[in-house]
Amino acid sequence: MKAGQLKRRVLLQGGSIALLLGVHEIARGATIVAVRVWPAADYTRVTVESDGRLNSQQLVVGSPPRLAVDLDGIQLNPALRELVGKIKPDDPYINGLRVGQFAPSVVRIVFDLKQSVAPQVFSLAPVAAYQHRLVLDLYPQQALDPLEALIAERLRDASKATGRDAATAGSAPRTPTPPAGDPLGEWMAQQSTRPPPSSPPAQVLVVPAPVTPLPPPSATASRTDRIIIVALDPGHGGEDPGAIGPNGTREKDIVLQVAHRLRDRINASSVNGNPMRAFLTRDADFFVPLGTRVQKARRVQADLFVSIHADAFTTPEARGASVFALSQTGASSSAARWLANKENQADKVGGVNVGTHEVQVQRALLDMSTTAQINDSLKLGGAMLGEIRGIGARLHKPQVEQAGFAVLKAPDIPSVLVETAFISNPEEEAKLRSVAYQEDLADALMRGIQRYFAQNPPLARSRQL
Ligand SMILES: [Zn+2]
Repeated sequence: MKAGQLKRRVLLQGGSIALLLGVHEIARGATIVAVRVWPAADYTRVTVESDGRLNSQQLVVGSPPRLAVDLDGIQLNPALRELVGKIKPDDPYINGLRVGQFAPSVVRIVFDLKQSVAPQVFSLAPVAAYQHRLVLDLYPQQALDPLEALIAERLRDASKATGRDAATAGSAPRTPTPPAGDPLGEWMAQQSTRPPPSSPPAQVLVVPAPVTPLPPPSATASRTDRIIIVALDPGHGGEDPGAIGPNGTREKDIVLQVAHRLRDRINASSVNGNPMRAFLTRDADFFVPLGTRVQKARRVQADLFVSIHADAFTTPEARGASVFALSQTGASSSAARWLANKENQADKVGGVNVGTHEVQVQRALLDMSTTAQINDSLKLGGAMLGEIRGIGARLHKPQVEQAGFAVLKAPDIPSVLVETAFISNPEEEAKLRSVAYQEDLADALMRGIQRYFAQNPPLARSRQL
């Protein structure tokens, strides 16, 4: 292909001398067995799976933005060619790609990008059903702020709800002043009183969380408009399918569906007149490391954190729903310990880049669990468990169980993990797929959240970040 050769030459002349200088080890040839692409707003991941470890070099080229990746010791094969067709038009980062045999044992992939990226390229040793994986994570140059995303979503919904009137009148709606410690409420208040929406939200949002103490809980405080944020955490995602039912149902798909149903209910509810808002730690099929889930919830100063799962157990007979809180002193049962260990493997299966600074920060964060958080989590879990029993669902255990789940370790947010049912049980797998059961479940969880707030008003809890 003359055109292909020409492009390669142009790319090389564009400054990729490093690629030429790379000494290609005489590696035992590896074969590509599969390629996968996981596009998401947070980042797009490309996984190249092979039967041996791949050596690679990459180079970012300026304008138009491109990323060239050389894979050593392999031949271009049909599995790798499939990558071209796997790029979706709505991928936030990748426009398209070309792949070719660049040298006798070097395959070059050139990604044409929609925006410049900060790539993270790393290898993962075989784990679970996977052989060797080379992972290319394409992050935006400036990381997305979960609070900014939440605000954008709320503004979008608000403009939908108020319709043309608010848009054409240009007059700010009446907005009560939210108390300190409510970044979303503060930002919303600023937006509604500021005449032109000129400055980008990011400028406001990088301001660290206010340290002003909350006013003491009182009758007046409870009437103040404060947005109550519930972080919903659909388990697994992307390379990590979670548990897979006997009929092939994937946990990661079911829990996202349940989270969406619960989100609808939360966004339509309020607590003592304060509007509620759901924040999803993932709203698409991509991998989010456990620590990042916790960090996202803390960034939006969530009032609650609810992780949603539908795991498998060692025997197909295991059935019923259960709710878990964190434990500092060991698991409440061997089954709870087993499940926590299994959940905590998610980062290995999903594929986390252990070399990054982010991971160190997350580890430090995960050692800050508190007794107060656990007590609140047990109350929340108890309220939910009672409501799940109310919909006639069988309970695996009649009380909230405890174990060292990494995802429940936000030190300042009551956090529970709900095992909605065992996907390994054929009957429960069928139930989990049904709209009726998902709706009942979402109703029960919503009632549990409201019951918790009725007994533990959100404003009575001071926020310290
Ligand atoms: Zn799970």
